[in-house]
Amino acid sequence: MKTNSLCFRLTAMTGTILLLCAIALTVSASFNAGKQLTAVAEATPADMSNVTLIPAPAVSVGNVIDPVTLPVGIATVTTAQRRFNLAGITTLLIISILGTGAVYFATKHALKPIEELNKQIITITENNLDERVSETQRTDEVGTLCRSFNIMLERLSNSFSAQKRFSANVAHELKTPLATMQASVQVMRLEQSPTQEEYRQMLDTVERNTNRLRAIIEDLMRLCNEEEQFEKEDISLSDLFSAIFSELTPLLKEKHIQSEINCENYPVVTGSYGLLYRAFFNLIENAVKYNRDGGSITVFSSTERNIGEIFIKDTGNGIPQDELPLIFEPFYRVNKSRSRKTGGAGLGLAVTKTIIERHGWNITAESIVGVGSKFVIHLYKS
Ligand code: ATP
Ligand code: MG
Repeated sequence: MKTNSLCFRLTAMTGTILLLCAIALTVSASFNAGKQLTAVAEATPADMSNVTLIPAPAVSVGNVIDPVTLPVGIATVTTAQRRFNLAGITTLLIISILGTGAVYFATKHALKPIEELNKQIITITENNLDERVSETQRTDEVGTLCRSFNIMLERLSNSFSAQKRFSANVAHELKTPLATMQASVQVMRLEQSPTQEEYRQMLDTVERNTNRLRAIIEDLMRLCNEEEQFEKEDISLSDLFSAIFSELTPLLKEKHIQSEINCENYPVVTGSYGLLYRAFFNLIENAVKYNRDGGSITVFSSTERNIGEIFIKDTGNGIPQDELPLIFEPFYRVNKSRSRKTGGAGLGLAVTKTIIERHGWNITAESIVGVGSKFVIHLYKS
């Protein structure tokens, strides 16, 4: 038996308590017995100093009652007390040893399910996180422990899978621009005497892809950096959206998209200008990218039950209902092949959600396929 095991400690603790109780009982029994015997000895008449007869309980023999007498003396009392004490201590030791043994086996039996649970738990590693410990029908603490442990495993497994997916996606997104640049450089090497125009095209490719790599890395850092502190200031929503639309003018013109800003009902928010610019830029860029030619984008704000709300509405291709909860996950793209044409990594909405939540707000999306989408930011007071 291991001396640091729970079984050993419980046995030692219960055994000690048992021994102390037994000692207390024996001492008290011996004390009481001694007092009674002394009282009996003192009640003996003085003239019958050494030997005396005291009436014992009446014994019935047939119908005749015979008085029976027993001899009792001081020496006899002392011997009897000594014998009583000796018998008491012997019984105490035997009961304590047997009791401690019984406690040990009872504890071992009670802890057996925990021992079995432990054997199952140590076989679970990061490679078989989808395995579960066998849940018993028990309703006691061990049953609850098994179920809680399985719930924890489920969460861990999901989190590990999400991390693996995330790393694979990061690797994939970084690999694509690098491969494009490498291919472009290799093509140039094969040319005997490249023209100025070919050099220019290669440099364009390299520049476009390094910009893309930088944007992905910045987005990833923004997603991971939860501790970053930021200064808050009052921001005019009309000014913020005007700046974003003006940056996106070439894209808007290319797709002949009309834009409208109406933020009079809730004109000012408090937050980080830089972060909110990035968050709303992503939303409006999507509204342009996934819009139809000749479509429109409306941005407006309002107050609903004292909570400010900002709406970004477009007339784009929309998002299927079952995919709406997934679009805020990093690297998630609806209809991957179509989205790939627009060149996105699927990080924009994940970054937007992180920024909005860091301001203590919340973002939701509504959409009807073929009609358009509406993103709503609920501006809770922080
Ligand atoms: P990135 O923003 O990283 O350049 P992305 O635009 O593909 O790439 P998100 O902005 O995160 O990534 O959007 C995720 C997906 O959600 C998009 O690929 C697109 O399929 C869908 N989506 C987002 N906004 C809209 C919208 N306004 N209309 C239709 N689909 C949208
Ligand atoms: Mg986007």
